[in-house]
Amino acid sequence: MSWFAGCCGGKDGKADPTLREQIVYAAKATGRILDEGFEIVSRAETNRRRLICSKCEYEGKYKCKICNCLLILKRPLATESCPDERW
Ligand code: SF4
Repeated sequence: MSWFAGCCGGKDGKADPTLREQIVYAAKATGRILDEGFEIVSRAETNRRRLICSKCEYEGKYKCKICNCLLILKRPLATESCPDERW
């Protein structure tokens, strides 16, 4: 299993991925969503993820600073996970 499995990005020792990395991550996430049929987690799980992010130093205003994903879209998706393995 590769370092980015389960997430569109990876910690890889740095935050703020480059534009090229963001495009690659977004393409991979889109592929997983299409493969898995847009599966959504429960509201309780989404809330659990939101609480974890709210205490995380990598949470930006709308995005995760590691993978640069829009968190409001990422957290409900069953195919996605935290790039820092917090959820
Ligand atoms: S997805 Fe993970 S690393 Fe990103 S803000 Fe949430 S808890 Fe932090």
